[in-house]
Amino acid sequence: MNINTDVVIVGTGASGLFCALNLPSSRHITLITKSDLESSDSFLAQGGICMLKNEEDYESYFNDTLKAGHYENNRTSVDIMIRSSRDIINDLISYGVDFQKDDNGFCFTREGGHSDKRILFHEDVTGKEITSKLLARVKTLPNVTMLEYTTMIDIITDDTNGCTGIIARNNSGETFSISASYTILACGGIGGLYTHSTNFPHLTGDALAISLKHGVELENIDYIQIHPTTFYSEKPGRRFLISESVRGEGAVLLNAHMERFTNELLPRDVLTSKIREQMKKDGKPFVWLSMAPIPKETIIKHFPNIYNYCLSEGYDVTKEPIPVVPAQHYFMGGVKVNSSSRTTLKRLYAIGETSCNGVHGANRLASNSLLEALVFAKRAAGEITDTYSAIDCDTVKSYNESDNQVLPDTETLCEEYKKAVLEEIELQKSKRTVKKDSEMR
Ligand SMILES: Cc1cc2nc3c(=O)[nH]c(=O)nc-3n(C[C@H](O)[C@H](O)[C@H](O)COP(=O)(O)OP(=O)(O)OC[C@H]3O[C@@H](n4cnc5c(N)ncnc54)[C@H](O)[C@@H]3O)c2cc1C
Repeated sequence: MNINTDVVIVGTGASGLFCALNLPSSRHITLITKSDLESSDSFLAQGGICMLKNEEDYESYFNDTLKAGHYENNRTSVDIMIRSSRDIINDLISYGVDFQKDDNGFCFTREGGHSDKRILFHEDVTGKEITSKLLARVKTLPNVTMLEYTTMIDIITDDTNGCTGIIARNNSGETFSISASYTILACGGIGGLYTHSTNFPHLTGDALAISLKHGVELENIDYIQIHPTTFYSEKPGRRFLISESVRGEGAVLLNAHMERFTNELLPRDVLTSKIREQMKKDGKPFVWLSMAPIPKETIIKHFPNIYNYCLSEGYDVTKEPIPVVPAQHYFMGGVKVNSSSRTTLKRLYAIGETSCNGVHGANRLASNSLLEALVFAKRAAGEITDTYSAIDCDTVKSYNESDNQVLPDTETLCEEYKKAVLEEIELQKSKRTVKKDSEMR
């Protein structure tokens, strides 16, 4: 079975779905996901999504993003993201997304690194609220086909057209090609490469490994964000996030003697170092987070997901502190793209956490990632729509069963890909250290 389509989107998280919604209904779109449709990090986002509240907040929002990113951000990308935020929120509302409101309009919350409240939220399940509504809308589109449990194992390239689609494998072990005039990588982050991560374990950076293999440029792939507060557990598997907005609403960090030891709203990387230092001093694998300063009603109304999860782990957060530890959380680097999400290979785009347009610099400001994913997914769709040119799918080199021996089984391939990405991360880290050392001399 080989498939011909106009646009293939690899990934059904917020970026992939939103991109599909912004492509013309006259184009046939094929979306694939490695897992089921609900298993994307987009469904896990708790805290919220930033929005430019008013013109007076522009400079402060811009500066907070740059400060968190150690001033390594691409300023044009940051400006585009902030300026597009209200339109994106209006789009979401038109798809039925419900943000917390009161009599005065939107309610805004705050997280680390923000000098003002500018984050929209839906309880502590904002990602699920947004992504489930996008998914429901995509399911109604007659021009879209979605394939679950289908993994991209390579891209197809030729000298004239650049990228002409992908090679995929489903969970029956069937390998086939999806020929497309445009290919969009929306494969999320790299948490699956780490033992302790808040991400789904199937997010292993496949798009990065495949890009490396084809000489598609990557950027800042050693910039990996650690979230300071995840629920400490000795059980294996994904780490449960304790959203930064809990600290934004007043929760405090305590050492082994139950004393406060830091400012809880420092940017993520700085706070992570403070927590690690404290863990070392205390000789413990965690510190404590107390929600005592937050009224019980606020905890139950704003953070029902966190409240219930902690209860299931034996902690009532309205009465006692919980153990927390830093864990891998987000990936600032990725496949290098321009401000329309175009990669360095013709007809290949990358969006969401897989891509790097420089918005986040060296460290992401809280609640900027869903916004960035949606803004630049829409821009990719816009450019493809405006410049569309079809390739002749019949001339595309399609996957042939007789080549089967060329591609190893999925498990071997995944291990090869993971190894390639981890090695590249280490290589970039050491190059950066050498560069910094020579700059200091
Ligand atoms: C616990 C948690 C809380 C968060 N909270 C917030 C928050 O409050 N605010 C905020 O802005 N951001 C938050 N984030 C970050 C944000 O959720 C993600 O950055 C964003 O949702 C990424 O969207 P995406 O579309 O790029 O990728 P994802 O939503 O991760 O989707 C990736 C998709 O790619 C598919 N895929 C991957 N590889 C392949 C392959 N080889 N073949 C086929 N399919 C593949 C996956 O199956 C999946 O469908 C949070 C993240 C986590 C983990």
